[in-house]
Amino acid sequence: MAVSVKGQDALSSGTRKAEPGEPASSERWARVRGRLQSEVGEVEYRSWLRQITFGGVDGDEVTLHLPSAFMRDWVRTAYGDRLSALWQAEDRSVRRVELRVGGSPMPSGETVLAATTPPAPRMAPRAEERAEPRPEIAAALDPRYTFETFVVGKPNEFAYACARRVAERPASTGFNPLFLYGGVGLGKTHLMHAVACELALGGAEGGRKVSVAYMSAEKFMYRFIAAIRSQSTMEFKEQLRSVDVLMVDDLQFLIGKDNTQEEFFHTFNALVDAGKQIVVSSDKSPSDLSGLEDRLRTRLNCGMVADLHATTFELRISILEAKAVSAGVAVPPKVMEFLAHKITSNVRELEGALNRLIAHANLFGRPVTLETAQEVLHDVLKAHDRRVTIEEIQKRVAEHWNIRLTDMSSARRARNVARPRQVAMYLAKQLTSRSLPEIGRKFGNRDHTTVMHAVSRVGELMERDASFAEDVELLRRMLES
Ligand code: ADP
Ligand code: MG
Repeated sequence: MAVSVKGQDALSSGTRKAEPGEPASSERWARVRGRLQSEVGEVEYRSWLRQITFGGVDGDEVTLHLPSAFMRDWVRTAYGDRLSALWQAEDRSVRRVELRVGGSPMPSGETVLAATTPPAPRMAPRAEERAEPRPEIAAALDPRYTFETFVVGKPNEFAYACARRVAERPASTGFNPLFLYGGVGLGKTHLMHAVACELALGGAEGGRKVSVAYMSAEKFMYRFIAAIRSQSTMEFKEQLRSVDVLMVDDLQFLIGKDNTQEEFFHTFNALVDAGKQIVVSSDKSPSDLSGLEDRLRTRLNCGMVADLHATTFELRISILEAKAVSAGVAVPPKVMEFLAHKITSNVRELEGALNRLIAHANLFGRPVTLETAQEVLHDVLKAHDRRVTIEEIQKRVAEHWNIRLTDMSSARRARNVARPRQVAMYLAKQLTSRSLPEIGRKFGNRDHTTVMHAVSRVGELMERDASFAEDVELLRRMLES
């Protein structure tokens, strides 16, 4: 909705009056609430959001009232961002949504639902809100997260293939449950959404329409608690058990949440027994999810467990290339190499850095160069330049391959000693801001060309040998954390 310039001007003069033809703010509230209702579903709506009453709009601030401090805090935590975003979509001049405890000067719009009350002016839900009712337990999917936009490389090809398979043939034997795990920012959520999108669009074999419920484990818990509060747990259970595919993201969140875990376990069993598909993700493998009940872990291990490994340099480059192409911006290979070297642990950060470069280039109408990259990303790069010392690197690497620390600076050239030493040099180059000659000196006064050779040799080996690459990435992550 366009907000007129006049409307913006009126901001300075206190309470904003609706322009002629502009919906009154109570209508806007009805729409905001309608949207939220269709996003969060009936159960949550009834437990929390229905209790909100509209206070009014004053300048750039919207006031909403809640009956108790507990509810206010809960609504703020669970829905605060969505409330603000939806209000802003209705009315761009709104900057703040204030949640207050206590009665409102206006009657709750909800009373119009009672049969005996004469209908108050309340906007009917708009056609698009009604058109395609999602299963109300499911969370919204990010349309950017599809199989097409997921860049496949050695570290994630297995997880990708499993996800594709489930999207084509949900509940196929051996893939149920599908358990995706991997570190932060390696694409778990992306793959989950891709599966859900594909299924929801009828991508499964034979073009079958399949009902999918995707949610984070955290949402699962919120909903479960909300259902208990509103005494509608039966309804909640039925809803969950009625889907064809249940997807729960970030399952590690359930650790220590015993009741929710229990509920999930029962839902899980009921669905699997009924031949429905389950997909879950976690930052750890089922065996490493200590704190999760054994019987749940056992069941999670029964299907397909697929991990997303740390990205390799090669994959990071491919991802950057794909993102640059889709943004329609020419990014020189040198800049991509620079980013892929510096930001190694998390694709989200890598993506963020590239986006910043692109935004900067667009803003100033200048091409992306290595110099601007260094300048614009100064703070990001500094954060990644955590002060790991060369001594620390040497110690970790020596421990990892079980060699003596003194061999890092010894003259011994046997492969079992020379290779770890090269890795340590490589990591020193990557993780510290020391120059090649400085690094050389720390490794028994070696020449800077020796360090240079080590860096390129290790890089080559990592491209060729996935298990070696994994060792090196593991060391890097240990040192970086
Ligand atoms: P996780 O859930 O594992 O923490 P996400 O799925 O949220 O990670 O991924 C973080 C960001 O990185 C997302 O924007 C995602 O699109 C992007 N991303 C991760 N892996 C890939 C990949 N292989 N190809 C394209 N984008 C990726
Ligand atoms: Mg995620």
